Amino acid sequence: MPERIKDFPRASASLIEDHPEVREAVYRATLHFDQNRAKAYAEVPVEAWRDYARDVKAHLLSRLADYLEKAEARLKENGAEVLWADGPEDAHRILAEIVERHGVRRVVKAKSMLTEELGVNAFLEARGLEVYETDLGEFIIQLAKEPPSHIVGPAIHKSLDQVRRLFHEHLGTPTDAEPEALAKAARAFLRERFLTAELGISGANFLVAETGTIALVENEGNIRLTTSVPRVHVAFVGIEKLLPRFDDLAVFLQLLARAATGQPIGTFVSLIQGPKKDDPDGPEALYVVLVDNGRTAALADDEAWEVLRCIRCGACLNVCPVYRQVGGHPYGFVYSGPIGEILAPHFLGVEGAYPLYNASTLCGACGEVCPVRIPIPKLILTWRHRAVDSGLTAPAEPQLIRAYTETMRRPAAYRLASKALRLLPSALASERLPVVRAWTRYRAGLTPSPRPFHELWEELEDERKNANP
Ligand code: SF4
Repeated sequence: MPERIKDFPRASASLIEDHPEVREAVYRATLHFDQNRAKAYAEVPVEAWRDYARDVKAHLLSRLADYLEKAEARLKENGAEVLWADGPEDAHRILAEIVERHGVRRVVKAKSMLTEELGVNAFLEARGLEVYETDLGEFIIQLAKEPPSHIVGPAIHKSLDQVRRLFHEHLGTPTDAEPEALAKAARAFLRERFLTAELGISGANFLVAETGTIALVENEGNIRLTTSVPRVHVAFVGIEKLLPRFDDLAVFLQLLARAATGQPIGTFVSLIQGPKKDDPDGPEALYVVLVDNGRTAALADDEAWEVLRCIRCGACLNVCPVYRQVGGHPYGFVYSGPIGEILAPHFLGVEGAYPLYNASTLCGACGEVCPVRIPIPKLILTWRHRAVDSGLTAPAEPQLIRAYTETMRRPAAYRLASKALRLLPSALASERLPVVRAWTRYRAGLTPSPRPFHELWEELEDERKNANP
């Protein structure tokens, strides 16, 4: 994975050059998501809700061990078996035991970024099991043998024609099938899998410590089938997904849907409190796997723990000017966009995640939309500082920045530098300098203003004084 992350600059440049259709599809979809989010935020007292969500998560994380114990106790009372996984190896061992115990051959899966993180599909397939993604977007990218491109819309980088070709190849639909016909074909294919799978795997949007309730949000009904038709249900839950009280769901469920897709609430919200017991439907066994995978270490990081408030809504991806151009794949990490930039170093270290946290213009849009007020730009800067301290940046970079700072501090040096720059317009525009060439490849050329800012400012000051003597 770190190798793919290191390749981000090349992978993103080649995507922009060679796949304009991806850029267009991602741009259109993220713009649509974000416009819907803005409308949905405007309908409610969203700033108060964001404060509430931030405070609830901060409180929860400050007493995480207590709340985890409480959640475990409630889940057990409700009849679930609770297991703990430090990382992917533990998660795989637990899954292997469950598969063995229940004679599982076929698995249906709900969309879950945590299971992507843990490599669940690859593990099960390597053991000879059939695994079917049941979210339509995940189903599309499973057919295409690709990872998700977006937390909420895993297939947003695909055009309709690409989906038509995939479905024609795998499901035999006509090459000009309409979207409704494609959805119908996926539905028929998956329905048979739901009815014959022995195991359903899901993640969890939230886990309420007070009641041991797993909350799952979706729009297609596939999660409800995944968690209730097979005789066994395994829910993988990141330990940061807890909420203290059942009442907290009222705000979090709405904030999640509004931030993610602009809906007031997800079309289906499932609240799961254990296996079926005397109910006619539902799984005979429910296993809840509480996963750490670096989260405890992230919580101990005084400068960067706030990333754990994330509820995986994807809103920061939708507004990010870098993500919008390239989509998720060039990032080379499970999570892409701004949230990926600040999560990756917790998983891979400051060096392993370099230069992902440089993939930001620091425009601040991500922080402005985040429903739980994660200070994303501040965290990006934290990791950049650490990269400098670790000697990961080019040796000349700190010297250049020091020289720039000194020049900006001294008016005489600043004036001299602006004059010198104005004497070099042809060099700056000619793209002969490698740095300039890298800049102007995708942007307008660097043409210095004919008159420097300080001259214009002085002139304005004089005008103001003359107007108000
Ligand atoms: S960082 Fe904030 S905006 Fe981004 S996915 Fe997480 S909760 Fe959503």
